Amino acid sequence: MEQLPQMRMHRPATAEEAVALHAEAAAARYLAGGSDLIVNVRRGIEQPEALIYLNGIGEMHEIAESDGGISMGGALTLRQLAENEILRRDYPAVAEAAGEVAGPSHREYGTLGGNLCLDTRCIYYNQSEWWRATNSYCLKHRGEICHVAPGGKKCFAAFSGDLAPALLLFDAEVELAGPDGRRRLPLAEMYRNDGLDHLTLAAGELLVAVHLPALPADVRSGYAKSRVRGSIDFPLAGAAVRLSVKDGALGDLRVALTGVGSWPFLVPGTEKFIGGPLDEETSAQLRELVRAKAKAMKTTTTAPHYRRRVAGVLAQRLAEGLATA
Ligand code: SF4
Repeated sequence: MEQLPQMRMHRPATAEEAVALHAEAAAARYLAGGSDLIVNVRRGIEQPEALIYLNGIGEMHEIAESDGGISMGGALTLRQLAENEILRRDYPAVAEAAGEVAGPSHREYGTLGGNLCLDTRCIYYNQSEWWRATNSYCLKHRGEICHVAPGGKKCFAAFSGDLAPALLLFDAEVELAGPDGRRRLPLAEMYRNDGLDHLTLAAGELLVAVHLPALPADVRSGYAKSRVRGSIDFPLAGAAVRLSVKDGALGDLRVALTGVGSWPFLVPGTEKFIGGPLDEETSAQLRELVRAKAKAMKTTTTAPHYRRRVAGVLAQRLAEGLATA
């Protein structure tokens, strides 16, 4: 790890002030918990000249029911989300995902916005400056080739946030503040499948809040992940499942994945199971569908085929558990 360089710190009181500061400062970055950004700065991957610290923006710490759903400020900590009674009751996948991020100390300062805007990760990228220099860097930062797929010009670094798949189940929208004012965007449209540039946010846009709509009463959901160290790691694969059961048949079924591609995504094709029971045969079909859509590459020390299989099994077990709950 490198020593932290000199950086100018700004402490805005409103989101609009933060956006204005971002526009004025050279090479500025928004800072909330810093659990991702500061590590990347110390590795020489990020070199901001100014940090815009978001902790003083009151609305970004608020959480409240609205229109039957819930609105959550982007600076809420992961512990606050994991312990929130509304999330635990109505959107348990979100509370479970927040409670599965890293370890307890990280969840004290890691935030909703930070987890959603996490940089993509790869064993050839999340390394010290000297390690990356020795290996001639890579496409994602300062290099010419991809060590994962040397023949191409695409980066396959994996998105590894836990909250995004859980929020995708519920059609979450993000509220963004930017140089042109505020806008709301479906969370699914905030990502693209590109390890080099996986966020569609415009320059200087700040994630102020996340909004979840009201749900039908019988929706069940959950989140599970596989990781190398059970108490503290990023997901090798993570799955969030939402379903409902009526008269023994599935009335709703959604699966979203993280850790197995450069973006979090809803698995296409799960609607074909709606209307039938989740029996042994359809449960196995669901597992194979999810495995086929998980496109893990060799971006971790764990083999990609294992992460794909794990994604399928996580979704299958979650669905089975929720269906019989
Ligand atoms: Fe670099 Fe390739 Fe890894 Fe992307 S997938 S971070 S380009 S080695």
